[in-house]
Amino acid sequence: MADPKGFMTTPRQDWPRRPVEERVRDWDEVYVPGALLPIVSSQADRCMDCGIPFCHDACPLGNLIPEWNDLVSREDWRAAADRLHATNNFPEFTGRLCPAPCEAGCVLAINQPAVTIKNVECAVADRSWELGFTTPRPPDRLSGRTVAVIGSGPTGLAAAQQLTRAGHTVAVYEKDDRVGGLLRYGIPEFKMEKRHLQRRIEQMRAEGTKFRTSTVVGRDIGAAELRSRYDAVVIATGATAWRELEVPGRKLDGIHQAMEYLPLANRVCEGDLETSPLSAAGKHVVIVGGGDTGADCLGTAVREGAASVTQLDIYAKPDDERDEDAEPWPTYPKIYRLSAAHEEAGQLRTAPSADADARLFAASTLRFTGDRSGHVRYLHLVEVDSNRRPLPGTGRAIPADLVLLALGFSGPDRRDGLIDQLGLELEPRGTIARDADFATNVPGVFAAGDAARGQSLIVWAIAEGRAVAAAVDRRLTGGTSRLPAPISPYDRPMTV
Ligand SMILES: Cc1cc2nc3c(=O)[nH]c(=O)nc-3n(C[C@H](O)[C@H](O)[C@H](O)COP(=O)(O)OP(=O)(O)OC[C@H]3O[C@@H](n4cnc5c(N)ncnc54)[C@H](O)[C@@H]3O)c2cc1C
Ligand code: SF4
Repeated sequence: MADPKGFMTTPRQDWPRRPVEERVRDWDEVYVPGALLPIVSSQADRCMDCGIPFCHDACPLGNLIPEWNDLVSREDWRAAADRLHATNNFPEFTGRLCPAPCEAGCVLAINQPAVTIKNVECAVADRSWELGFTTPRPPDRLSGRTVAVIGSGPTGLAAAQQLTRAGHTVAVYEKDDRVGGLLRYGIPEFKMEKRHLQRRIEQMRAEGTKFRTSTVVGRDIGAAELRSRYDAVVIATGATAWRELEVPGRKLDGIHQAMEYLPLANRVCEGDLETSPLSAAGKHVVIVGGGDTGADCLGTAVREGAASVTQLDIYAKPDDERDEDAEPWPTYPKIYRLSAAHEEAGQLRTAPSADADARLFAASTLRFTGDRSGHVRYLHLVEVDSNRRPLPGTGRAIPADLVLLALGFSGPDRRDGLIDQLGLELEPRGTIARDADFATNVPGVFAAGDAARGQSLIVWAIAEGRAVAAAVDRRLTGGTSRLPAPISPYDRPMTV
């Protein structure tokens, strides 16, 4: 660290967000462009370079955080970029999208605000592109072995990049028309502009990775055929089987799953559609589900010009501070967090009956009622206690012309036939079973990411992609893998 007293003299300062009134009128990222670089070196200087960096353990990728904090504090961007890319293929994704469990584990966070680790990571990644340090890294020679990766989300991309760089010939099969998985058609543009994704895909193409889009494995190409054509197959198909809400009125028009709604808004940003057929413009929108997917619906509905937006969360409002007994440092605490989307909905006062941030906590949906044409008009709810028991006298109806269900995902979608065609064994909760080497019960077939771990995070997807690549490389070359493997499949989130 350039200044050993930085943590005492410099207060935490986050990358500032653009004013709400400005940013809800476009789909660009919420941050003020160019405002991170002038502050990031002094922020990195707040790192104490402590003896036991708990942030390492808290980051599923094992990012070398104190090392690049030190390099950024000295503005040695090239070395910082090298150290960052040593553990993370796509740091500009995590630098924008990760919930940053590392910051919950930062030693400084014991009694003052953590180092802005996620912002530092993002600055290093962006600077590395700007200064021309991030370039294609094709292999020196080819191994003659071939790998098919099914799915082009962050898991598939990380696995493919690692395996290509190790010299194997890799083809990524993707059922959508574009590469990226949930990075492309789930996460909205205002959280991460797709140009960051596109740049990485170009880098991967230049390294030799092949992409086969609009190809559903199991339908357009048989899973058995793929297996016979390649030396190894990696399944990275995600966990997109959504949970349902079985209440009266669910079949009314105007009630949709979040992942029916969000991809259409993404397609508007991609230029495929002029407006979304499910646009929230002028509508009273209710989002059922208090998680990040719900928050993405919230930000999207606000930008589409909703008349009002309310997000229902079945859990009680969390505390502002960590409960030291239940969730001691360095675990990732369940505390009240105000995302950019909540800030927008709250400041615009679009929610008629909710808290200032458009959320209604401890609220359970009882039923929907509609008009004569069969379109939803009201959502009937009741407040619940911590055991989800209704509180007497709290039932009420709120206007709802568009209802978005964001209740999470139960596991991989089986409709394409891939799992059945291969005869893959599943875990009791519906995810693909694999052993300590990421191998499934079918020889030569490996599974990683949300498809096997269950619904998770981008940082875990990249970590699993890197680790499955190491396992495949070991199997193909018969030796000790040259590729790093940050995690084992049995690692469970220590902190998030
Ligand atoms: C709306 C939303 C917002 C999120 N926001 C965040 C966030 O801000 N931060 C964060 O850390 N995490 C976030 N997540 C979670 C994160 O996106 C996932 O954990 C991550 O994308 C999982 O990566 P994956 O590669 O395993 O799967 P996915 O990203 O789901 O990719 C799987 C890919 O496989 C393809 N596929 C499936 N079946 C087949 C087949 N048979 N043939 C060919 N291709 C197939 C799919 O089309 C898809 O492209 C969000 C999730 C959602 C739904
Ligand atoms: S990937 Fe996430 S946990 Fe790891 S350093 Fe970046 S923000 Fe922190």
